[in-house]
Order: sequence, then C-alpha cells, then structure tokens
Amino acid sequence: MSRKIDSFGKTMRMEEVEQILAIPMVSGWVARFSGIPLKTLVYDGEAIVQAQINAQKAIDYDALFAYIDALFIPEAFGCSINFLSPGAAEAEPINLQSEADVQALPIPDINQKGRLPLMLDVAAKLVKLPEREVPVLSLVEGLFTSCARIMGTENLIRALIKKRPMIEKLMEKVGVLLTRFGHALEERGIDGLIVADPVGSATMVSPRFYRELVFPHLRHFIEALKIPVILHVCGNSDPILDMMADTGARILSLDQCMDLAAAKQKVAGRCGIGGNVDPINVLLNGTIEDVKQETMKCLQQGGKAGYILMAGCGVPPLTSKENLKAMVETAKQQS
Ligand SMILES: [Zn+2]
Repeated sequence: MSRKIDSFGKTMRMEEVEQILAIPMVSGWVARFSGIPLKTLVYDGEAIVQAQINAQKAIDYDALFAYIDALFIPEAFGCSINFLSPGAAEAEPINLQSEADVQALPIPDINQKGRLPLMLDVAAKLVKLPEREVPVLSLVEGLFTSCARIMGTENLIRALIKKRPMIEKLMEKVGVLLTRFGHALEERGIDGLIVADPVGSATMVSPRFYRELVFPHLRHFIEALKIPVILHVCGNSDPILDMMADTGARILSLDQCMDLAAAKQKVAGRCGIGGNVDPINVLLNGTIEDVKQETMKCLQQGGKAGYILMAGCGVPPLTSKENLKAMVETAKQQS
C-alpha cells in the first residue's frame, strides 16, 4: 500500500502521521481546469477520470475524487439539472406537496437510473489505476441537503413544521438510496466518502431541528457504511458540533469561520477535524504568501493526529493554480 493511502487510514483512526494530508474539495476547480464545459464533463465518465488524474498530477494534493458535481442524487430522483454560467449547476426541484407524493416517488435503481451507474464506474476506474498512490474519495450530499435539492429549499424549510411526516418519509427514501450507493462504492474499493451537508447547517436549521430530524437520519446512514466519512457542514457549526461528532463521521470538515483548535478539543476522542483555509479571501483573492501563512496556521492548530488540511468549503473554480499549489506544498514542507 502506498504511504499516502496508509496515512489516510491512520488519519481516519486518529493516529499520528509523518505528513499531514492535504485534501481540498476541488470538484468545481477540476471542472474548470479540465477546460471541458460542465454540462459535457459531468455526463462523460472517461473525461471525469482523466480530468481528476490531470488535476491531481498538476497540484499533487493527496486524493483522487470520483465525482465532479453532487447533483446526480437529486437527478436520479427525477430533478433536471440547470447548467448556469460559469461552471455552476443547480437541480430543478420536483413538485412534492404531500406524504402521498413522497410515497409515490420510486427509490432510484443505482445500476440504472441517471448518472448513478456512471459515478460508480468512475470510482471503479480510479480505484484500479495502476500504481495509484493516493486514496480515492467520492462525495454525496447529506440527506437533508439532498431533500432540499429534490423539493426545493424553501419548500423544505416551510414543510419542517407543517408537514413533518412528509419530510421524514423523504429523508428515509434518500437514506435508502444513499446507503445502497455507499455500499456499491465500497464494493468498488473506494477509500472514503465525503458527505457535504450545507443545508443541514446551524445557519439553515435550529439545533433543535438538527437533533430531531437531521442528526438521526445522518447517523443512521453513516453508521451503515464501512468506509470512513468526512462530514462537511458550512457556516458556524459550533451549536451542532457535538452532534456532528456523534454521527460516526471520522473527520468533521469545518468552515473558515470556525476555530480549529477549539473544535478539535471539543470533539477529541470521538473524531478528527479538517479545515479550514479561507476559500474566498485567501485561496481565491489572497497572494501566495497569504496562502502559506493561513495554511501554516491551520497545520499548527490541526496537529499530526486526526487532522486533514482542507479549505473551509469547496475551492472556488477561479482559484489560481499557484495558490492551490502553495496550500498543498506548505503541508508537504511541514514535516
Ligand atoms: Zn461549505
């Protein structure tokens, strides 16, 4: 096994590593770097594999990513995808008004529906690359965020109080699909899964709703998986940090507004943390020197056990190659 894949396993078990892994979430950046229009790239498995290999070679971060966008889950449930310029996309919500509507919604077949088979194929191809040196990670959005994409965020938030059984039912169906998809990724030999749950953040729902609705479904899903999960939540996650640590995720990937050292202390013994170089002010708009300084600060706060160097959120697609490289190189020079 390569040293990097071994270090990934150690980090997931919160053991000390020689060199801290740098795994920024780069999907949008890779799409732009590939030069292929997003609406073509996301439907072309071969192109995704090649784009991921090329970007990893160019920047030398410590993972290969078996995805470009996360919209293949709502798409499989029947949402169409709108491609916006430049390089962004969103799911068109479907009309779900009642528990009966959700009841009638079929759980997509992972081997048939939309891009699900394509995403599994991308994962299998990356895993099988000869002399692969870095872990392969896939990504899905969390159950609550997936529900928001499927029925529209505004509808979901409004239905939280008035139509709770309907939301519970949809969370269950999404959970069944995500679990089947996760197990299929495991069968293909993937090393880990990033679960991004931006709508399940403390800025979108109260800690009470998180405890009652988001947390139990998320924990149920994560506990069903054998592969380690990196859970990303946007914004200030301090009010829900304890619950996030109890989901069974191995790493909590934190927003740039969070204090890494304080968060690490709070979740100590339960999971590790990842973060949190400022994606906009530093990676996108900062100088190389800014990137180096901010990265050093993160590396010091994160420490060598149970920590991955990441950005505070997805790397903005227009980030310069030089800045992204400076972040990754700073981590390599630290050991
Ligand atoms: Zn985020």
